[in-house]
Amino acid sequence: MQPRPGTPAPARPGPRHAPAKYGACRRGDDIFVGRSPFDDDTLGHLSYWKYVIAHEFGHLVSKLLIRHSTDGGYGASSSITGLFPMCVCDHVTSANPLHCFQSLEDIGSALTEGWAQFYAAKAFNYTGEGDCTFVYYKEYRTGPNPADPVLTPPVPLGCQTPLRLKKNYCDVAVPNEYDSDGGIEGDWMNFLWRAHEDSANGSTMDDLRTILASTFSDGDFIKTAELAPAASAHFGAGAKATHFSQSATNAGID
Ligand SMILES: [Zn+2]
Repeated sequence: MQPRPGTPAPARPGPRHAPAKYGACRRGDDIFVGRSPFDDDTLGHLSYWKYVIAHEFGHLVSKLLIRHSTDGGYGASSSITGLFPMCVCDHVTSANPLHCFQSLEDIGSALTEGWAQFYAAKAFNYTGEGDCTFVYYKEYRTGPNPADPVLTPPVPLGCQTPLRLKKNYCDVAVPNEYDSDGGIEGDWMNFLWRAHEDSANGSTMDDLRTILASTFSDGDFIKTAELAPAASAHFGAGAKATHFSQSATNAGID
């Protein structure tokens, strides 16, 4: 009998690029949910994790409706030296460490992965109840100090309260031709959840699709500075545009 995922896994040097038949991903219009990236039976099959499955569906929805792709990979956290351990994935040992909830990423990757986490959170939470919980399937570092614990999955994380990981720990310029702000998928998940869930002024999924897609209409990739103008263009002046922009500011994605 295999131990359930969540059993502390022994530390191991992870491959930077998992073989194609392992891990979970969206390729083309297909979703793949395979074995552990480490081909380790003690870690179980990734189909065990409902949040992983919903995450991959989120990528497919993003690809089909927003038509957004990443702008060159996860790059940032592995190409900048001296970042806090909070901003990289060195603590991730039970899954692929290419990116994680708190890693500083190129802006397109932060949106892509943050959207997928948001989509998974939406799949298993009601909006408007104020207690959204996203259950994370990789390790999560709780603070910047070496003594701060690293939590082993499954890790329940609130979607409601901004963590402001980028602003608090990782606010450095990213060497990216599209947007030097970079981003963190956990912050983007919080932004999208808060922008969406408000009962009075929340953006519907179709609003989000339209606003985000409009930022790519000029043929390049998203820039954080384009978000507020895109919301104003979509909603016109008023509380919905303000709520959208305020959610982005509160999450600290700008
Ligand atoms: Zn993903």
